[in-house]
Amino acid sequence: MATLFDSHCHLDDPAFDPDRDQILAAARAAGVSGFLLPGVGHWTWGRQLHLAGKEADCFCALGLHPLFLDRHRSEDLERLAALLDHPNVVAIGEIGLDYYPPEVDRQAQQALFEAQVRLAKAADLPLVLHVRRAHDQVTATLRRLRFPHGGICHACNASRQQVQRYLDLGFRLGFGGPLTYPRSHRIRALVQALPVEAICLETDAPDLPPLNHRGERNSPVYLPEVLNALAELRGEPPERLAEITTCNARQALKLDL
Ligand SMILES: [Zn+2]
Repeated sequence: MATLFDSHCHLDDPAFDPDRDQILAAARAAGVSGFLLPGVGHWTWGRQLHLAGKEADCFCALGLHPLFLDRHRSEDLERLAALLDHPNVVAIGEIGLDYYPPEVDRQAQQALFEAQVRLAKAADLPLVLHVRRAHDQVTATLRRLRFPHGGICHACNASRQQVQRYLDLGFRLGFGGPLTYPRSHRIRALVQALPVEAICLETDAPDLPPLNHRGERNSPVYLPEVLNALAELRGEPPERLAEITTCNARQALKLDL
């Protein structure tokens, strides 16, 4: 059976409180051998660390998400810095810039993002990026700060040129449920053109369910559906893509060092 890695999965989310153990067991039975739990803000860190402390195949990225500026507190950056030594923390994320909502404070997002890039650089940790309509600004920032550790740009929807800048910075790109929708023309074309070494699989559960589970709570159990969409688009065997994308995620998160 294929071994898969869910490189972006909010398993700590309260949406999984009723049946988290069953979902984990079902995902493992479906071949998912690793889970990266991305952080959103101080309120997710404790529950992420708790879960990763119990489950050897769960790993944490801790970070301050750009869409929650109102919920972050002044002391959070300092708290984040203090948690980076924790053995289950493998990255800083999900962090980045999100220009999609028109009312966001772009300056505040930029300051928060840069502060966390500096933390990751100092702690030798990769990044898990959340970026919408701001790929040029994010890659320019990473270049200016000479960020050397790479990571994963999650739910990547960018142009070929923007994607090349991520690859040049040592990043991989995460693809999930949207890949299964026939109308996702840009990302479906993107995964056909990308070198396979650049691709990681993710669900972003409980959000972004694949086509066959539209309207449902998404779950890491559905990761094989993302794999199958990728295999069909690339005309390559799913077993090979499972192996390579798992290896890509583990390398991006420096899990095998
Ligand atoms: Zn997420």
